[in-house]
Amino acid sequence: MTAVAPLPKRPPSLLADASTRLDDALQYVDISEDALRRLKYPKASLSVSIPVRLDNGSLAVFQGYRVRYDDTRGPGKGGVRFHPSVTMDEVQSLAFWMTFKCALLNLPFGGAKGGIALNPKQLSRQELERLSRGYIDAIADFIGPDVDILAPDVYTNATIMGWMMDQYTIIKRQASPAVVTGKPLMLGGSQGRDTATATGAFYVIDALLPKLGRQPEQTTVAIQGFGNVGAALAERLAQQGYRVVAVSDSQGGIYAEQGLDIGQIRRHRAARQTLKAGYCTDTVCNLGEHETITNAELLALEVDILIPAALENQITAANAADVQAALIFEVANGPVTSAADRILEERGKLVFPDILVNAGGVTVSYFEWVQNRSGLYWTLAEVNERLQQRLIAEAEQTWAIASQRQVSLRTAAYIHALNRLGEALDAKGTRDYYANGAT
Ligand code: GLU
Repeated sequence: MTAVAPLPKRPPSLLADASTRLDDALQYVDISEDALRRLKYPKASLSVSIPVRLDNGSLAVFQGYRVRYDDTRGPGKGGVRFHPSVTMDEVQSLAFWMTFKCALLNLPFGGAKGGIALNPKQLSRQELERLSRGYIDAIADFIGPDVDILAPDVYTNATIMGWMMDQYTIIKRQASPAVVTGKPLMLGGSQGRDTATATGAFYVIDALLPKLGRQPEQTTVAIQGFGNVGAALAERLAQQGYRVVAVSDSQGGIYAEQGLDIGQIRRHRAARQTLKAGYCTDTVCNLGEHETITNAELLALEVDILIPAALENQITAANAADVQAALIFEVANGPVTSAADRILEERGKLVFPDILVNAGGVTVSYFEWVQNRSGLYWTLAEVNERLQQRLIAEAEQTWAIASQRQVSLRTAAYIHALNRLGEALDAKGTRDYYANGAT
C-alpha cells in the first residue's frame, strides 16, 4: 500500500481567522442565515498591475489591490496601505474589519480597503506620486464618492491622498473631493483628520478606564508602533498624566521605568528625519539615554496597558502567554489573532477591540466626506466634539453588551455591528433570490 503524502500545510488565511469573530458573536444575534452567509465573502476584489517609470528611466511594475467587502449600509470605505507585506488576503481582511467598524460606529458606509505591495521608503517622492496616480488610473472605475471612498492607512498620508484625489478628478473631469478622505486641508481635508485615530483611541481609553477603577496617574502604558497614530497617542496619554514607559518602532524600542518624555522623542525624530519621499527614517532606538528593548520584550512588559499600534498578527498563540498587561487596547487593525484572544481571555486579560478603539480615523473620514458634499467646513472643536460623542456612545453600548451577555468586548462589538448589518441586509429583501431565477 502506498502512503499518501500529506498535503503541504498552507499558511493560515488572515481572512479565515478574521471571520471566526462572526461565529463567536452569532449565537447572540438575530440574523438570517442568508445574511450571515453573504458576510463570509468579500463582495468584489480587484487586483491590478501598476507600471511606474522610475527616476533612472527603467520600468517597475507594482501589484495593487482594492477590495469592497460589503456595501449594504452605504459605499465602501477604507484606507490604502503601502507596505511590502500587502497581499490580497491581507487587504480582504482589512476590508472585512472596515465593514464591521463602520457598522459599529453607525457610519453610512460599507467596508473596503486597498493596498500596494512595496517598500515606500525606497522610492523617491516623484516615483511615489507616479505610483499613486497609476493606482487611481487602474482602479478608477471601481471607486467613487458614492461607490468606494479611499483614505490613508499604514505608510500613506495626506500628501498621497491629495495626489489620488487629483488623479481621480483629472479622469472624471469634475471636482470630486469626496472620493478620498484624509486629504490636505487646502484640498478639502477635515480639521482633526490627521490625529483622529489617536484622538479617538484616547477618548475610548479615557472613557472606559474609570469603569475599571483606574486613574491615569497610576497607569503605566507600553505602545508598539511609533508611526502617525502610535506617536500621537503616546503624547496625548503622557500629557493627560498616564505613565508611558515604553515605545517601539520596526527597529526596536526604548523603556524607562519612570516614564518617557514623549514630546522630546517626537521632536528628536522630527529633527533627525532624513527626507526620503517624506518619510521619517530615524528610529526610536537612536535615543541612547533609555534602556533599549526588542519588540518582543515590549509586548511582554509588566505594564497596566499594552497598546499594539503597528501591524496585524503581533500577539499570537506563540506569545500570548508572555503578555503581562491586564488591558490591551488594539490600535492597529488585527494585532491579536483569534487563538491569542482565547489564551488572553483564559488569563483574565481584557482586550479592547480594534474596530472600536481605532475607529476615530474612519469616523472623522466620514465627517470629511459630509463636509465635502455639503461644502460647509467645521472647526476642530466641532469635529472633536462630534467624534467624542459618537465614539463614547458606541463604546458604552459595547461595554453594556459585554456585561449583559458575559462575553468578551470583541464579541460584544461584533454583536453590536452584526445587529445593524443583519438588519440592513434583511431589509434589502429578496431581490437576489428572484434575480437568480428561482421560481
Ligand atoms: N485606515 C484607517 C482604518 O483602518 C482609516 C480608514 C478611513 O478613514 O476610511 O480605520
